[in-house]
Amino acid sequence: MNRLTSKTALVTGSSRGMGRAAAIRLAREGALVAVHYTARKDAAEDVVAEIEKDGGRAFTVRAELGVPGDVHELFLGLENGLRERTGSTDLDILVNNAGVMGGVKPEDTTPEKFDELFAVNAKAPFFLIQRALKNMPDGGRIINITSGLTRVANPDEIAYAMTKGAVDQLALHFAKYLGPRNITVNSVAPGITRNDNPVFGIPEAVEQMAQLSAFNRVGEPEDVADVVAFLATDEARWITGSFVDATGGTLLG
Ligand code: NDP
Repeated sequence: MNRLTSKTALVTGSSRGMGRAAAIRLAREGALVAVHYTARKDAAEDVVAEIEKDGGRAFTVRAELGVPGDVHELFLGLENGLRERTGSTDLDILVNNAGVMGGVKPEDTTPEKFDELFAVNAKAPFFLIQRALKNMPDGGRIINITSGLTRVANPDEIAYAMTKGAVDQLALHFAKYLGPRNITVNSVAPGITRNDNPVFGIPEAVEQMAQLSAFNRVGEPEDVADVVAFLATDEARWITGSFVDATGGTLLG
């Protein structure tokens, strides 16, 4: 533990779900964490309170992603928060986690829905990386949360899966580009993972979803957070441009 002492991290969409778990996990390793959210201020503040109770350091940053000015707004809050606490605006770790699901059949996918999915899930991470590179020292870490749905068919999520396929490309190309700076860039692909969705309150549905995993259970946010934390440490310095399957064996078929 404490493998990230003196590091700073931004986890987008960390008010809930896997982002929340990743923020808590990175803070437990000693990182100062920016807990980003868009609507659920209360939830983001709870994450900060939990981290502080544990002896860690964190602060909230609000910005809606997928709209004009999103990256600028996020970095205003981020840089203020970092400067106040560290005297610098260095950002060592960026976790692109915020995302929205589609849940619409191919024939019901409107151009507006398609654009929204791409704006939040694919465009925002690209421009967040572009902006973060101004603040990221050599040896930094970029971790993008994609999805097992880039490797297994689900027609109701075709547009969403397309966005995550685009996110996978970030690791491939940015990894090559940033190798000379010793910055690693990797994709982490979760399978079905528990979040606030009411479906996780229906035992029969959970049982059915659990069967998709080789371990016969749905993923917990911490299952993915542990993978993110590992990739953020120095121990993962030799891994870049990877697609890390964190689906609990769902892709084994
Ligand atoms: P949740 O749905 O639990 O939380 C989403 C988070 O993203 C929240 O913090 C939310 O903020 C934030 N967010 C959503 N939309 C925006 C936006 N437009 N601008 C800024 N922030 C936004 O997330 P999950 O833990 O379920 O998923 C995390 C990531 O993992 C996503 O990228 C998702 O696509 C991916 N994934 C999820 C799977 C799953 O089964 N859960 C499976 C595979 C991949 P706020 O609280 O303020 O609304």
